[in-house]
Amino acid sequence: MARRRTGPTEVVKALVHDRDGGACVRCGTRQDLTIHHRVNRGMGGAREPWINQAHNLLTACTTCNGWFEDNPRESYEAGWKVRRPQLPGEVLVRYADGSEYELTPDGVRSTTVAAAR
Ligand SMILES: [Zn+2]
Repeated sequence: MARRRTGPTEVVKALVHDRDGGACVRCGTRQDLTIHHRVNRGMGGAREPWINQAHNLLTACTTCNGWFEDNPRESYEAGWKVRRPQLPGEVLVRYADGSEYELTPDGVRSTTVAAAR
């Protein structure tokens, strides 16, 4: 079997960047941006098709990307990280504007009523 790169495609990266307004989801900066996986890859995770789909990916600056790993409790609360067996489409994400959004695999971000949680 051919080995494949385990990251998202360029198309998906562009989709995520546009969905997030080209800004870090936590601090809103537009500099030093990277792609953050909400559910980490690893332990065979890259074989799960949703790992590299838009709802599992966030635009984050390199500082916040490191912060997520150092602050897992707050990151899970805000939906910046998702803990298995929860799926990324089931957990709302808090953005830098303070709103929480539901993400879909095709790169759509929709607001939901927080009280409905
Ligand atoms: Zn940031």
